[in-house]
Formats: sequence, structure tokens, C-alpha cells
Amino acid sequence: MEPWKEILQKSVTTPQELYHQLGCDFNVLQDVIAKFPMRINPYFLNLIDYPGDPIWKQCIPDALEINDTVCIPDPLSEEDLSPIPNLVHKYANRVLLLVSSQCAMYCRFCTRKRKVGTSKMHISDTTLSLAYDYLRLHPEVTDVLISGGDPFLLDDERLDEILGNLSKIPSIKMIRIGTRVPSVLPMRITSRLCSILKKYQPLYINTHFNHPKELTAEAKQACFMLADAGISLGCQTVLLKGVNDNVAVLKELFQGLLYLRVKPYYLFQSDLTQGVNHFRTSTQKGVNLMKGLYGHLSGMAIPTFALDAPGGKGKIPLTPQFIRESTTTSLTFENYLGQICTYPEPIGTDE
Ligand SMILES: *Cc1c(COP(=O)(O)O)cnc(C)c1O
Ligand code: SF4
Repeated sequence: MEPWKEILQKSVTTPQELYHQLGCDFNVLQDVIAKFPMRINPYFLNLIDYPGDPIWKQCIPDALEINDTVCIPDPLSEEDLSPIPNLVHKYANRVLLLVSSQCAMYCRFCTRKRKVGTSKMHISDTTLSLAYDYLRLHPEVTDVLISGGDPFLLDDERLDEILGNLSKIPSIKMIRIGTRVPSVLPMRITSRLCSILKKYQPLYINTHFNHPKELTAEAKQACFMLADAGISLGCQTVLLKGVNDNVAVLKELFQGLLYLRVKPYYLFQSDLTQGVNHFRTSTQKGVNLMKGLYGHLSGMAIPTFALDAPGGKGKIPLTPQFIRESTTTSLTFENYLGQICTYPEPIGTDE
């Protein structure tokens, strides 16, 4: 068996195991896991330093998940936006295709918590064929984003087959993969996997790191292997209360990602997903955190802070305001140190 599969097999998945390993409240665990699955593989479990730390919060079930009366199962209306199962067509030119129902670790704050890792998510050759047919009938779609679940939880052969089928559709010009494997099970990135991925350029991978503690030697090796295979790496971080909602942590994370050859792409405001209300921060808090990054970090290290609008209305950038006043003759703004500056507009041109 491949080493990564052996590690995955040793994952903690039952309340009994977690109770024995970490002494968590057995009854609470049982109730939460009955609704939302748990899987904590030994690699990620070992990153925990103390109860309640940023790694713990991401993977250990919490009673608050089943006491959430504010949020809803599918806040982005993904099911309504799926013309066929597992294919979300929200933007005209790009689609999201869910190819795997499994992850190497079930994040407690998962947006797709309603179905990821449960029997409610059905992916089969039949549903995938429907997706390929749909894409052939919709040549306006040029960019396919494959996600899940985690596509890298599929076998090499299966992934090769899916990528091969997508790349045979002439209108598809690029493929993107969304995966958390580099941060939660980096040993899944093997040279064999890289040699498969290499065949499907242009290929972009957006990974998902949330805390500097995830930037381990193993994660670095995984990212370097992917980058050496010629794949551009981005990161989609989720802003999470008690995990990464402070400037120092975000700075260390985003700067550290660049050292791993990963370009921070998005920082997401938490979605209104049922079971994740306790992770939400205010949008103002997020904007203020972003304000603490500009100028203090290289522009390369700064992602777009984005809110995925409820109801599937699209991702909206939430950008801090630096402009103080804009007239026809000049722009007055604040710099990253809070100093007021002016820029004279050109005279006699447009607007
Ligand atoms: C986020 C998302 C995309 C990709 O958006 P980008 O801004 O291009 O990264 C595509 N489809 C759906 C349904 C999405 O949620
Ligand atoms: S890796 Fe992604 S899809 Fe899987 S549980 Fe975490 S957030 Fe959800």
C-alpha cells in the first residue's frame, strides 16, 4: 500500500479513539459526529500542541456545530446552481466540478459540510459522464475547477482519467485543482502524482493553508515537488475566529507561503454554513486585518479578501479603503503608515 494510504488508514474517526487519545467529551463527540464526519489523520493530529490550539480548532468536533441556529446548510445555493449533480455553474466562463467526496481531514469549518465525507455525496462514472457531456454542450466554459472533497484523495489512475477526459474537451483551456492535501497530508504528493499532473498544463493548484503551524518541512517538500513539476500554486485561506484572526498570524502565514512557492490567492470571509457559525468574524474585522498587511508585506504575499455572496451571487472583494477624497483635480489618500498624501490628476483628460 502507498505510504499516504497507510497514514490515512490510521486516522481517528470515532469518538472512542478521540476520547482515548485526547480525553474529549464522549457524548458531545458522538452527537456531533453523527451529523458531521470526523477524520484526523496522524500527521495532522501530531501538529496539535495543546487543547484548543489553532490546529485543534480546525479538526476536533465542537458542540457548537450542532447548536447553530443562525446558518443554513447550503448558503452559496450550490445545489440550485448545479444543472447536473456535482457541477456548479455560477459564472459564465468557469465551473466547479466536485470529483471526490473524501478529504484527508474533515475541517470543522467546511463550507460543504452538508455533504463532504457523508453518504449524501454521490460521485460515480455516471455523474462524471454527465459533467463531460454538459461541458461539451457549453463551450463558453473554458476553465474547470475540480474540487470536492479533495481530488487528491482519489487514486492516481482515477485522477489521471478525470484530467484526461477534461483535457480532451476542446473548449476547456485550463484546469484548476482545489486541494488541502499539501497542508493536511503532504506525503500524498508523490513523484508519480507529479508526473501525472505535469501532462495537463496549463494546470493550477490552489491549496488551503490556514495557520503558520501547517508550514512544516513535509508541506514544504510537497509544495516544492508540485512547483518543480511546473505547476503554479495558490492558496485559499479561510479567516477563522480563534485560528488565524490576527495580523501577526496572517503575516507569518502569507509570508511563509511564499517561501513554500505558494502565492496567497484568496482569504475568505467564512460562509454562512450551518455548523460553522462559531468560526465567523465580522467583515469589518477582516477588512481591518487586511489593512494591517498592505505595505507591511510584499504585494506578492497579499491575497484578495473575498466574501462569497449568499445565494451564489459570486465572490466579492472586500478591500480596505485608502482613498480619503477624490476630486477632478486630485486624489487624497492615506498610505500604509496612516500618513495623508495627495496625487494631482492629469488636467484636461477623460471624466
Ligand atoms: C469560487 C468559485 C469559482 C472560481 O472563482 P475564481 O474567482 O475564478 O477563483 C468558480 N465557480 C464556483 C461555483 C465558485 O464557487
Ligand atoms: S479539505 Fe476542503 S472540502 Fe475537505 S473538509 Fe476541509 S474545507 Fe471541506
